[in-house]
Amino acid sequence: MITLHHVSKNYGAVRAVDDVSLDVPKGHIHGVLGRSGAGKSTLLRTANLLERPDSGTVAVGGTELTALSASRLRTERARIGMVFQHFQLLDNRTVAANIALPLRLHKTERSARRARVAELLELVGLTDKADAYPAQLSGGQRQRVAIARALAPRPDVLLSDEATSALDPHTTVDILDLLARLRDELDLTILLITHELDVITRICDTASIMDEGRVVEHGAVAGLLAEP
Ligand code: ADP
Ligand code: ADP
Repeated sequence: MITLHHVSKNYGAVRAVDDVSLDVPKGHIHGVLGRSGAGKSTLLRTANLLERPDSGTVAVGGTELTALSASRLRTERARIGMVFQHFQLLDNRTVAANIALPLRLHKTERSARRARVAELLELVGLTDKADAYPAQLSGGQRQRVAIARALAPRPDVLLSDEATSALDPHTTVDILDLLARLRDELDLTILLITHELDVITRICDTASIMDEGRVVEHGAVAGLLAEP
């Protein structure tokens, strides 16, 4: 579902991503683990072409994104949701309005938008917070809003950029379990990056370990952890 083929990205002399290939099958959760500066975030941003690779190809759901025109790319990006460490919600809009935002951008009509927002609120367990503002929510609730917003256009793929790194351990587990449940219920394919091993062991099927732009280990999580 997500295929990166020999992807490289340099910033001047820095090889942020150096010849990385990976293939995440539909319905799998793949984690990329590495310390700060390893290239995880650059790699994740190449997966939806927020960052265009210098070389290599990126395909999502069989469509090669690196071959598309800018306008086709905008359409295809609706198939890829993204969540961030610091949620990136609009503070002056309600929870419902934040979730509705991508639907507005896709010009979904008002009644369909309303129905979809209600469904998403239910999905992430925030029906009673529809009219609250982000500042009135806990960190975990804010991340639930961000996840609901990312899922609004019914993407096949979710990219997670350290989604639990700003959360306490208990809330981290809640959010990871939510992601695992969404994967099961929606048959989502998830690519996540993290610097925390616990995130990998809790929900990932497979993982890559990155260091200095390169994947240094790759495989099923159980196998990776069995390494000495
Ligand atoms: P990670 O997410 O693992 O912390 P990054 O992908 O953010 O790693 O960074 C990988 C390397 O690329 C680092 O050396 C970082 O300084 C460099 N880098 C990342 N983004 C940029 C940028 N926009 N301009 C210049 N260098 C960058
Ligand atoms: P509008 O001008 O259409 O109200 P907003 O930008 O204020 O739009 O976004 C609010 C969105 O959330 C709308 O699509 C609205 O239908 C939806 N919405 C607001 N409150 C609720 C709720 N309690 N349950 C479901 N959807 C809601």
